[in-house]
Amino acid sequence: MPDFRELIREVPDYPKPGILFYDITPVLGDAAAFAHLLDRMTAPFADAEIDKVAGIEARGFVLAASIAEKLQAGFVPIRKPGKLPYQVVREEYALEYGTDALEAHVDAVGPGDRVLLVDDVIATGGTASAASRLLRKLGADVVGFSVFIELGFLDGRAALDGLPFHALLRYD
Ligand code: AMP
Repeated sequence: MPDFRELIREVPDYPKPGILFYDITPVLGDAAAFAHLLDRMTAPFADAEIDKVAGIEARGFVLAASIAEKLQAGFVPIRKPGKLPYQVVREEYALEYGTDALEAHVDAVGPGDRVLLVDDVIATGGTASAASRLLRKLGADVVGFSVFIELGFLDGRAALDGLPFHALLRYD
């Protein structure tokens, strides 16, 4: 099994001073590690009858699209405002200072769709929680959240309101 912690590059002060950024590109660039990562992020939801896998811009896209293919599900992009070409629904969420928002196409998911949410990192949980609310606004049944890295010291899972959650690695 690949040593993910060896491969993940920890970059201090990116994108701003005081943030330790977990750069997963060395994992994505290693064929064996990437394949193993996708297997491990998919397995907990293999029998969950997922219709669509939603990825959060931008690193979440890479993981979500590959997991969708493995689950024989569709892929749905969740993006920052203004990036999607068609009609969107929007969900705002609080940042340390101010607010940000996520958008999805109005027809990306529909009532009764069983959706798995995917991202690379959960920090405060604000992004994943907003993405889950966005999908629910469209009537989807959000059945879980699969994430590569959990920053446990930020307790992001508390923001997920009991959404079934699977993290491959936890940093404390
Ligand atoms: P949060 O909303 O605080 O849970 O932040 C999660 C989102 O921000 C995810 O889409 C991550 O890709 C990104 N993110 C937050 N903190 C980090 C970090 N330390 N390293 C890499 N990505 C991060």
